[in-house]
Amino acid sequence: MGGMGIDAGFGTSFSSRFIAQVKFEGVHLPIITLAYAAAILRKAGHEVHVIDQARQDSEQPEVLAEVTALKPDWVVAATSFAYIRAELQYLAAASRACGCKRLVFGATACHFASDIMALGLADVIAHGDPEVAIGHLAQGTLAPGLSGVLMAQAGSSPPVLHAAAPGFVQALDTVPWPDWNGFEIQRYGYFPLLKRRPFLTMLASRGCPYACSFCPYPVAQGAPFRGRSVKDVVAEASFLVKTHGIRSILFRDPTFSMDIGRAKDLARGLRDAHLDLDWGMETRLDRLDDELIDLLGESGCKSVNFGVDPIDEATREASHRRACPPDVAAARIARLERRGIATAGLFVIGLPNQSEDEMRRTIEWIDTLEMSFVNYELATPFPGTPLYDQAITQGWTQALTLQQLLAGAPKLQFNGAMGLAQMKALQDQAFRRFYAKPRRVVKDLILRQFFTNVRFFSRSALRFALRELRAA
Ligand code: SF4
Repeated sequence: MGGMGIDAGFGTSFSSRFIAQVKFEGVHLPIITLAYAAAILRKAGHEVHVIDQARQDSEQPEVLAEVTALKPDWVVAATSFAYIRAELQYLAAASRACGCKRLVFGATACHFASDIMALGLADVIAHGDPEVAIGHLAQGTLAPGLSGVLMAQAGSSPPVLHAAAPGFVQALDTVPWPDWNGFEIQRYGYFPLLKRRPFLTMLASRGCPYACSFCPYPVAQGAPFRGRSVKDVVAEASFLVKTHGIRSILFRDPTFSMDIGRAKDLARGLRDAHLDLDWGMETRLDRLDDELIDLLGESGCKSVNFGVDPIDEATREASHRRACPPDVAAARIARLERRGIATAGLFVIGLPNQSEDEMRRTIEWIDTLEMSFVNYELATPFPGTPLYDQAITQGWTQALTLQQLLAGAPKLQFNGAMGLAQMKALQDQAFRRFYAKPRRVVKDLILRQFFTNVRFFSRSALRFALRELRAA
């Protein structure tokens, strides 16, 4: 999460623009909650039609026509910080055209729930695990006041929100597996970290007890770690391989190996199932040990994403980021790479208390690590996170209103220890420095699926060149 909400670029230099193009071409993740919604609703006997309109221009009439032609009773939709204006307007148009009701989920919709309800822009907002509200929709038991369900008091005009506590599913094995029928699975991918397709995502756990101040995960999923059983996770992965021919899976858990013993059992389960499957996950370096890393390598794990911490303890503490000591982090990264697992370090630029000097020293240290990839994002105070509250209290940003988002000005401003321009300049330099070293690119290109890489990068380079020519 970063980039002030909608800034998908990585800087202005040539190499930064090319990295942004590669990411756009290679990374297309499905919204797994929609597949969970399809499963829950179909299980209850409802007819479900799936439309994935990500990356489409919602203002095109034919995009809206597809929904309205179906005349649905309900539309279940994902919302985001970056595109909430277009999403809510789109749903309002659908509702006017065919009278459908709207159940939406997403952290930003939750944060602005009162205003969204007052304006009549949604009928239900899921609060906590969306499956709770979707379950009530499936069973016909939606009502104001239920945990996990934000909706208006019956008969209130204009609609007045009946606030309710978030709803979290404790026994995650009871949630039906995502139903991918109707999704265009061939469109999804996670290149270059997971190169084989077809590709899908899974969730083996939810929640994260760490409280990094910038992170929306604990806000959306709660602090307690909730894990599915190893048997259920391995059975779902086997089902995806056998039914959809899936060759790569990305686990989108906030911290996959929070419980190291369980993560070892998961790796053993996937290894012993002999699925011919590549998989990846995101975790913290301090939630890995040597035995787990070796098991990951044996089980087909091909990519691990993790946060890279600032080098100075004071900066880490200012973001409530408990760190892995630098020497331990370096050793774990090197071991992952030796086991054939591509490592991707995620770094946040411009955290509270971070000086430009500290940032530069951290970038220099990151450059010594044996990582395959890095991603630098700008510290972003998303509504609902502790960083957002801190940024308002300290005067680093102004509180956002729904009206601003609906007026089409969703960019957050953030001027903490560093100004936005300074953060962007550092981001640009950091990318150039890391990816300018041919050894990294050569290592990944040659050692991991050479022909797939050449095909992908040739296509990306061609499209990039055409775009640059058009812009010139
Ligand atoms: S450990 Fe990761 S998922 Fe958990 S709060 Fe920190 S950044 Fe978020």
